[in-house]
Order: sequence, then C-alpha cells, then structure tokens
Amino acid sequence: MKTSIEEHLLAWFRQTKRDLPWRRTYDPYHVWISEIMLQQTQMDRGVEYFRRWIARFPDVTAVAEAEEQEILKLWEGLGYYARARNLYRAAKVMKERHAGSIPCDYQILRTLPGIGPYTAAAIASIACNQNVPVIDANVARIFARLFDLDEPNKGSLFRKKLEQHALDLLPEGKARIFNQALMDLGGLICTPKNPSCEQCPLAHACLALLRGVVADRPVTGSRQKTIVIEMATGILAHAGRLFIQQRLADDIWGGLWEFPGGRLEEGETPEQAVVREYEEETGFAVKVCGYITTVIHHYTRYKVVLHCFACRAEGDVNSPKREAAQQNRWVLPAELAAYAFPAGHRKLLEHMRQYCPDRLIDPCCRSGAACMNEDQSVSGSGN
Ligand code: SF4
Repeated sequence: MKTSIEEHLLAWFRQTKRDLPWRRTYDPYHVWISEIMLQQTQMDRGVEYFRRWIARFPDVTAVAEAEEQEILKLWEGLGYYARARNLYRAAKVMKERHAGSIPCDYQILRTLPGIGPYTAAAIASIACNQNVPVIDANVARIFARLFDLDEPNKGSLFRKKLEQHALDLLPEGKARIFNQALMDLGGLICTPKNPSCEQCPLAHACLALLRGVVADRPVTGSRQKTIVIEMATGILAHAGRLFIQQRLADDIWGGLWEFPGGRLEEGETPEQAVVREYEEETGFAVKVCGYITTVIHHYTRYKVVLHCFACRAEGDVNSPKREAAQQNRWVLPAELAAYAFPAGHRKLLEHMRQYCPDRLIDPCCRSGAACMNEDQSVSGSGN
C-alpha cells in the first residue's frame, strides 16, 4: 500500500504542481520566507507578499541589516506580527552564526527564533530534501481520512499516530516532492469541507471514503466560543499633526503604531474609555469632540469592536509620558502611510481616507457627525 500511495500521489503532483515562486529554485531562504508567510495566510496573498519581500530583501543578510520598522511595514496586512519580529531575529542569528546562510539541519533550525517543528521540517525537507516528514493541518486532515483515525484531533494519541504514519509513508530521498505533494493535496483536493474525492489520487486507499465517514474525519472538539472585546481609540490633532505612539516591544502588536486607546472597563462608555486611556498612556487631558466610526475586526476567536472618536486637547500636549509606548510622535496626515498599524487602526485610516479625509486634517471639524452614516461600521478579519 505504501508504494501505491507514493506512486499515485507523486504522479498526480507531477501533473498538477502549482507554479509557486519559491518552487523555482528551492533556495532555503525562499522556502523559509514562504513557509513563515503562508502560516495563517491564503496562497494568493502569500505569493504577492513573497514577491515584494524578495524584491526588497533578496537574502538573509539584507533582512538582518534592515531596520525593524521597515520589516514591519513590509509585513503590514499579513498579521501575526510576531512572525515578522522572529524572522528578523532569526536573520540576525543566521548572519552572525551561519555566515548569512540557512542551516539545513532540523535540530539547528529548531533553535532559531520563530522556527517551530513544522517550519524546521518544511525547510529541512523542501529546501534540503532531508528525510523529515512535514505535518501541517492539511497533512493531518489527509492522514485522518486516509487511515480513518477516530481519535480527537487535538489529542496526543492522534498526534502520535499521525507521526508514525508520516514516517512510515515518507519515501527515502524524496521528501521534497512527497511533502509538497501532500500539502497540495490537502489544499486543493482533500479540503476541510466537501473534499473532491472523485479526483483524489489516493481514493483507492482511503479508509474514510471506503467506510463513508469522510465528513466525520478528522474528529474535532467543539468549537470555541467567540470572545467579544470592546475597545475605544481617539484621534488627536494639534497644529496640523496627529498623535501616534509605538506599542511596547513585547506585546502582541509590538513595534506597530497606533492612536492611543484600549479596552473598555466595566460600566464605562467608549468616550469615557478614550479620555481615561489618553490620561493613563500619555498624560494628556482630552475631550471627545465627535464619533468617527466603529471598526469590527475578527482574529482567531476574538471579535474586536473598536469605537473610534475624534479628540480635542484640553491642556498641554507637548510632553507626553510613555507609559504604554516605546516612543510617540506628532505626524502630518500624509506621513501616516510610512508607519505600520495593526489591522483595526489601519482600517480606521482607510475608512477616513475614503469617507472623511478632512477629519484627518482636523478630526473635530465635523463635531457630532459620524464619518459616513452612524449605523455603518467597518468589518474585516486578519491582522
Ligand atoms: S479520498 Fe477523499 S477523503 Fe480520502 S484522502 Fe482523498 S480527498 Fe481525502
């Protein structure tokens, strides 16, 4: 059966292999960047970002010698910014310890920032053709169906069985092509919903298909509930400039820029939260002079409702404290495009550029009026 699975899968891959930019050379640097970018990112989007990235940073040394701000700006919109910061840190280590090259050894790869078991296995096998199986969500789903694994897919027994099947099936000396073929099969044919079993090269060997339980594999736990987080932010202008601050390095969006704000406390209105957050984070006394919009944003299992306001200074704004920021700046509206913002604030800016650009110059110029219709809010997902 092992030989039959290998032959059918590789024959299918030779015919259907997607032409992806990192597959043209198998340069370890290209494979590494693509694997990091494609985590939580759709393929088309990943390809677009990959091309931009390689044009600006052709090798490890170029990344290591860049400013972190430029790394974050190029990553802006891909989300999960810890990936970009780790990538930057790993590039510096590779430059110092490995002469700017990417080690092919799985164990050494695992010591680098941001390179977990999956990414190390992908680089070692795809870039270096080492005999290492790669198990991502796609591969786990295929094996759960192919071998009709009925254990919950988050459990250790499921994981153990997966690893054993992956090792058993891996053909010696063909890890590069075999692993990619599996990943493509999971992305194109053995999809989470409505898999195309009639086109599947492994249909002849698939136990879940034979037993009529494809829709029940893998066995998942109950879905986690969505957690709603209410936040508020305010745009403050002074002498034609807007106040922004850079988040602390060790938080989830560390290094990105934002307008001050934060979570609503119990019993607090969004307007009160903005005033309190300004005071706590910057020491500024501000007054809310108008509503702008509400940005609704989803990431992982969180739904963030960001209430956005225009603010007016009620006192001195020349000496901000930096309780919640690495640094802060007063910038011209036209300069905002040079800074990387997390998704919620970026959507707010896009919305204002489209519907009320005058309020980026003077946020309070339409006191009391929303930017568009009061009922309309901006939605999105990702980071
Ligand atoms: S036959 Fe269907 S369920 Fe089985 S591996 Fe192929 S696509 Fe997946």
